[in-house]
Amino acid sequence: MTTKESSPKLGGLDIFRVAAAALVVAIHTSPLADVSAGADFFLTRILARTAVPFFLMVTGQFVLGKKGIWRHVKKLLLLYAGTILLYLPIGIYAGHFEEVGPCHVLKMLVFDGTFYHLWYFPACILGIGIICALERIFPHKLVLASCVVLYILGLLGDSYFGLLSYIPGAEAFYERIFTVSSYTRNGLFFAPVFLYLGKILGRNFLQKGFWTPLKNPRLCVAAFSAFFGLMTAEGFILRFFALQRHDSMYIFLIPSMIFLYSWILAWQIRPRRRMRTLSAWVYILHPGMIVAVRGAAEILGFDSFLVENNLVHYAAVLTGSFASAAAAMAVFALAKPPRPYPGARAWIELDREALGENVRTLQKSLPQGCRLMPAVKADAYGHGAVLIARQLNGLGVKAFCVASAAEGAELRKNGIKGEILVLGYTHPEDLALIIRYRLIQTVVDTEYGRLLEKHLNRSVAVHIAVDTGMHRLGVPYDDIEAFREIYGRRKLKIQGIFTHLCADDTNRPQDRKYTQMQAERFYRTVEGLRREGFPCSSIHISASYGILNYPELQGDYARVGIALYGVLSTKKDGLASRLPLKPVLSLKARVAAVKKLSPGEAAGYGLCFVAERETTIAILTIGYADGLPRALSCQNGAVLINGCRASVIGRICMDQTIVDVSGISHVRPGDVAVLIGKSGEEEITAGDLALQADTITNEVLSRLGRRLERVML
Ligand SMILES: *Cc1c(COP(=O)(O)O)cnc(C)c1O
Repeated sequence: MTTKESSPKLGGLDIFRVAAAALVVAIHTSPLADVSAGADFFLTRILARTAVPFFLMVTGQFVLGKKGIWRHVKKLLLLYAGTILLYLPIGIYAGHFEEVGPCHVLKMLVFDGTFYHLWYFPACILGIGIICALERIFPHKLVLASCVVLYILGLLGDSYFGLLSYIPGAEAFYERIFTVSSYTRNGLFFAPVFLYLGKILGRNFLQKGFWTPLKNPRLCVAAFSAFFGLMTAEGFILRFFALQRHDSMYIFLIPSMIFLYSWILAWQIRPRRRMRTLSAWVYILHPGMIVAVRGAAEILGFDSFLVENNLVHYAAVLTGSFASAAAAMAVFALAKPPRPYPGARAWIELDREALGENVRTLQKSLPQGCRLMPAVKADAYGHGAVLIARQLNGLGVKAFCVASAAEGAELRKNGIKGEILVLGYTHPEDLALIIRYRLIQTVVDTEYGRLLEKHLNRSVAVHIAVDTGMHRLGVPYDDIEAFREIYGRRKLKIQGIFTHLCADDTNRPQDRKYTQMQAERFYRTVEGLRREGFPCSSIHISASYGILNYPELQGDYARVGIALYGVLSTKKDGLASRLPLKPVLSLKARVAAVKKLSPGEAAGYGLCFVAERETTIAILTIGYADGLPRALSCQNGAVLINGCRASVIGRICMDQTIVDVSGISHVRPGDVAVLIGKSGEEEITAGDLALQADTITNEVLSRLGRRLERVML
């Protein structure tokens, strides 16, 4: 089962982030300068030079490896803008802005940063841009090679600057570079290789068959030590021969980082979100703290102690930075507006952006002239039909299909515009709804055509269902007489004709053949009718799997259901979606209580779970009445709390569920548990639940209970 498998625990990266932040502070304060120049050089110019590449690699892993890069870039831009503003007063006071030509401003903004540590943000953004561009034109290996070439060019402007005089023409070239960027340690030469390595190592670490030595922690430590030793020698040799113009870039920094990063990935410990945020704040705030410590020392007359003793100075700046980082986190936590979900007990969150992207992705994939007719039956597969249809209306969708007249009426009552096709049988009792709410009824077979004619007191719009082999609803495709009869009925305004495919979701040859046959039968029927002068203005054939597996099928509409919600019916058939669709729905609940079980104590109905060891359990405010499949009981399913997995223990109750949170620290009543969706780096999909419950995603979703509140975020 997918959720039982432990997923990668990348907490090591979070811990190392804190260490890296402390190293960056060291670079800017030279703690060992009093001990000896050599010791200080080793600490700040060699050891601490692993910090920024590490941060770049983490960024590469989490930004480049996933979709939605632009969203991350926007975040980086915002962060950059915020820190520029934060340091503007200090920068002005320190006279950083005395030279203000447009060139100088550009140089500061794009390469140097407006304050001395801020170069990191534009470097990240430029580096990400360069890699995205390279990936468009080159295969993977050439992208890496290009990044390495850029790094080598950078080396010559940095640690190996002294070699330039031996290369004809090189000095003039670098002279030019230095007019636009003060260093080659920037987004162009320095950042790309580490960003890209982060992406590769992060992604491949999880896959089988990757270069296995990198998964062996001992070997990583050994290799890192060896390469770091070489890097140390490299640094001291370069220093001895006075070749360095700057000291951020070394040849052996790259292999050192590959093994260091792989080692940290191999730690496999739970994520620590707060450390992640804390380290980011330390990085942002520490230069301010340097200024603050200097100022305080001057005012208080502690200069000799606080500033002149480098180690004390470092300790003061570090403590101050961590304290102010913690304070900033506390302030932001307070200032954060309450989340707009109802969230009292158990609820569904809908991702507006994901839905919009899915609509655009699917619409683009349809043949020319074909439009989406989303299936919003069964409360939009449990998502909430009104919320979904309203959003779709806003995105320009003008046609929907539902299963029943009541479903169509509910949409109209809530102001949904456009055509609404009722796909199923409507009893004569309910025909008033069809008329009143201007719905389109399906003629489900010949006899139903007669029934409609008899019970309608006025004409209504209909689509004819054609049975091409599913043998569910529809007029048999070859019963020409039946079609003539239906077209002859005065009260039926025939606006469309459609069929439904029943074997389009696999790639088995017999299924492909059957689907092809269904399509041929349908198109032949439509042609025959047109030849006889019967109008067929809207024709439709494909549902989700038709769109995915038979993109060539023509039609005026595609009745897309499950794919619109960003999931497939099953993970089992091994069919990968050819389109990048995003899940729209998350299912969440609260922790109601946390308690401890001693070995031998049981929990839940039927004493199904008995603790083997000291166990911490949490009771969640969701049960099978909310649609959580009861089949997930007894360790079959899992939920996410604070970014960690907790497996379901005992039997799922009607309104409550018990999970094992022994491995997760700080779980408290009121915490949010994710049953479908993401938490930290972890994700549980509706497909996972479907596998565990031995059904398809459609069933899991459409059974999500009425009791759940639904919000579009
Ligand atoms: C439910 C339904 C659809 C939508 O199916 P998906 O596989 O979810 O896209 C389309 N057409 C008919 C007739 C349906 O009943």
